[in-house]
Amino acid sequence: MSLMFEHETLGQRVLFGSGKAATNLAGEIARLGAKRVMVIAAEQEEDVAETVCSGISPVLRWNEVVMHVPVERAEKARVAAGEADVDLLVSVGGGSTTGLAKAIALTTGIPIVAVPTTYAGSEATNVWGMTEAARKSTGVDDKVLPMTVIYDAELTLTLPADLSVASGMNALAHCVDSMWGPRADPINQALAAEGIRALSQGLPLVKNDPQDLAGREQALYGAYLAAVAFASAGSGMHHKICHVLGGTWNLPHAQTHATVLPYVLAFNAPEAPDAAARIGAAFGTEDPIAALNRIRRILDAPKALNDYGFTEANIPEAVDLILPVIPASNPRTPTRENLAGLLAAAAAGTTPGL
Ligand code: NAD
Repeated sequence: MSLMFEHETLGQRVLFGSGKAATNLAGEIARLGAKRVMVIAAEQEEDVAETVCSGISPVLRWNEVVMHVPVERAEKARVAAGEADVDLLVSVGGGSTTGLAKAIALTTGIPIVAVPTTYAGSEATNVWGMTEAARKSTGVDDKVLPMTVIYDAELTLTLPADLSVASGMNALAHCVDSMWGPRADPINQALAAEGIRALSQGLPLVKNDPQDLAGREQALYGAYLAAVAFASAGSGMHHKICHVLGGTWNLPHAQTHATVLPYVLAFNAPEAPDAAARIGAAFGTEDPIAALNRIRRILDAPKALNDYGFTEANIPEAVDLILPVIPASNPRTPTRENLAGLLAAAAAGTTPGL
């Protein structure tokens, strides 16, 4: 088979080093010549932000961060950024915090330096997301792609084990969905495979000891690769499902991804033998479904959407919303019946692949 593809790489500077965030941030601000910095960090992330910002003097600190970025919160933060004449946004925190910085950048064009503290990966994508009236909308705009990402695994040491696991599974989902996303190509598939390898090595170490810095570094490195792959390949079936569930029933982002992923893998793998083989090999085995089920057991990962408030009764509406947005690139054709079956299994938490 001939090799032919079209691939775009997003331009971004990445600085990776444990214990280096404060120095790297001060260096980046000097390099960019920014004079009026707005630091965005949620309340739970303020201690981490304090450490990261020890060498800089922001003109504005903002902590009104809400998951899935409600539009009115975005608007309030945009107004504040304008009034303070901000010339650089520094986000320190998880995907919700990065998401608010992106919402500001979308309308103002103010550049972002992102300092992530979870494995969500939003910092490496040009995708923004906001919610209005219980519907999540997303879009793609290079203005929201952070200019620089500063990774420091020490900042993730305070992320509780259960959140680390859910967030790490979210990163694994970026890798797996990149195998069949609408723009999947050999470059993003290679990055995704290396992401699966790093995450599958790092996450069990983190679960065993949340203070294990080597495990944290592997997980963070894997999460970055996952996000780069995902940004390039685009949202596949898994992301379309989670996006609808998160936006419509306000389910927690990372936990929803962690729960749904094995069902999508089990759904698609039989119709996508090459992707399945690559995913299996990245886990160090031949059977990707067994490998994913095994790592979920080791990590004691979230199991059932029922636990987050999504029930059998929600399935018909979910099917209505999800079916039209599943990309044509999906290896297995979704129908009302098979999609309802997938959601019922994920709601109840029955063993995926059986
Ligand atoms: P989150 O940002 O909501 O963080 C989860 C919780 O962990 C929060 O309470 C947060 O304050 C806390 N936290 C974060 N870092 C911490 C740390 N180091 N120590 C202690 N507590 C910490 O959740 P998330 O899973 O990181 O991000 C989810 C959001 O990101 C969703 O809105 C999702 O849609 C978005 N997202 C967007 C993209 C994209 O490409 N646009 C990609 C992935 C996720």
